[in-house]
Amino acid sequence: MNTPSAQKGHPKGLYVLFATEMWERFNYYGMRAILILFMTKALMFDKVFASNLYGSYTGLVYLTPLIGGYMADRYWGNQRSIIAGGLVMALGELVLFFCSTFYHSSPQLSTLLFFSGLGFMIAGNGFFKPNISSLVGQLYPKGDRRLDAAYTIFYMGINVGGAFGPFLCGLFGDTGNPDDFRWGFLIGCIGMLLSVVVQIMFHHKYVKSPEGNVLGLTPDNSPAIATKLTTIIGGLLLFSFVTIGLIYIDAKVFNYLFYLLIGSVTFIAIVIFSDKSLDPVEKSKVAVIFIVSFFVIFFWSAFEQAGASLTFFADEQTNRNLGFFTVPASWFQSLNSAFVVSFAPLFAWLWLILGKKEPSSPTKMALGLLFLSIGYLWIAFGVKNVQPGIKVSMIWLTGMYALHTCGELCLSPIGLSLVNQLAPAKFASLLMAVWFTANAFANKFAGVLSSLYPDNKTTNFLGIYEMSNLYSFFMLFVFMAGIASLILFFLTKKLQKMMQ
Ligand code: GLN
Repeated sequence: MNTPSAQKGHPKGLYVLFATEMWERFNYYGMRAILILFMTKALMFDKVFASNLYGSYTGLVYLTPLIGGYMADRYWGNQRSIIAGGLVMALGELVLFFCSTFYHSSPQLSTLLFFSGLGFMIAGNGFFKPNISSLVGQLYPKGDRRLDAAYTIFYMGINVGGAFGPFLCGLFGDTGNPDDFRWGFLIGCIGMLLSVVVQIMFHHKYVKSPEGNVLGLTPDNSPAIATKLTTIIGGLLLFSFVTIGLIYIDAKVFNYLFYLLIGSVTFIAIVIFSDKSLDPVEKSKVAVIFIVSFFVIFFWSAFEQAGASLTFFADEQTNRNLGFFTVPASWFQSLNSAFVVSFAPLFAWLWLILGKKEPSSPTKMALGLLFLSIGYLWIAFGVKNVQPGIKVSMIWLTGMYALHTCGELCLSPIGLSLVNQLAPAKFASLLMAVWFTANAFANKFAGVLSSLYPDNKTTNFLGIYEMSNLYSFFMLFVFMAGIASLILFFLTKKLQKMMQ
């Protein structure tokens, strides 16, 4: 008999989800590749403001999936949410296209359009991202051994999009002429629409449960009014207005996002730890989730410099002239994804041949932080003793991204499955929320750290570490990730005990 786990190959639905996610990530990372350049070269924001805004934007991008996931589970179902979220993101890109078309003639209108575009992107991503990821799991029977491979293939889709997005949006948008940024946003918009088209055309035919039922349809107990077109459009518009307000307030009025995130995690911790139905073993597993979530903040906040300070560095301090062609600064944001696609099979093979010696999950995460720290050490040496105004070779950024990618492959997939394994069923979604909130915090923090980029000025971190040049700036990340890695290495034994 053909038992589920003995089945070979993958359901066709996986490739539908692969293509849908690939085009969406194409849109997201393509837009991100030119975002900071657009802010500083067209909208003429200073680096500090642009960096902080980048943090508010990417921070909120990781926060809204909590709402999008909840709405799908109760009211809309995964597929409707994906299509709705995708269309809202396409609208966001279109608004950014108009913003970058009118920034000369009507600066005030373009600022309004800019915040609106970002708000639509945040709102749309919230509906798209959690729902596409959860559909992948639903294609397989419980306990199917193909699931890990399925998520690896899906992660490839993410990164094929993540490599081509910055490449194409950079090629046409980051030309040196600020008027061209709009083509980058337009290409992002087209990519997003392709994702929606793939979803609409192939979902019903292929994205099915092992029993053959179409997945992600409206939940049984969803009230009829929730799925009326007017309710959906109204709901999405309302939610988008909220996200536009949220990003505007955090960037321009009051930096509330950090407090909101800390408050939410504290609240969740209180809810879970005061629950009488959990036994001490379950509680200690939950504690591990909180501890590793804390450590990943140090990873992503350094890693996500890619779209901010590291793009300033690519733009101003890297010699990109090949004689016949100048490499766009935004192209460096393709490197991480391109390296993921190249290295992922290597890492899968490495864990396999290590067999019983395969490091534990916390050890792998500590290794991830170590790779990140070494990556920054590499680039710090590249800029050491280099006179201001002198550009360094592209090898420094390229090597750093290769090392960062090794770190990502040690930490990112492992962290996600750790949360899945350790969370008591009752709190599975809430603990996923903790993981996402850590990501949101890290991204917001990334923006704050990028604002310390020493651009003809001395900056300092918490009043204890002064940075007057790029070397000291990059060393901040060496220390931050390095210390976090060491502490996590020391904690691994204890964490393993707590996990059992
Ligand atoms: N690059 C991956 C994605 O876009 C993971 C990013 C993350 O978890 N911070 O989905």
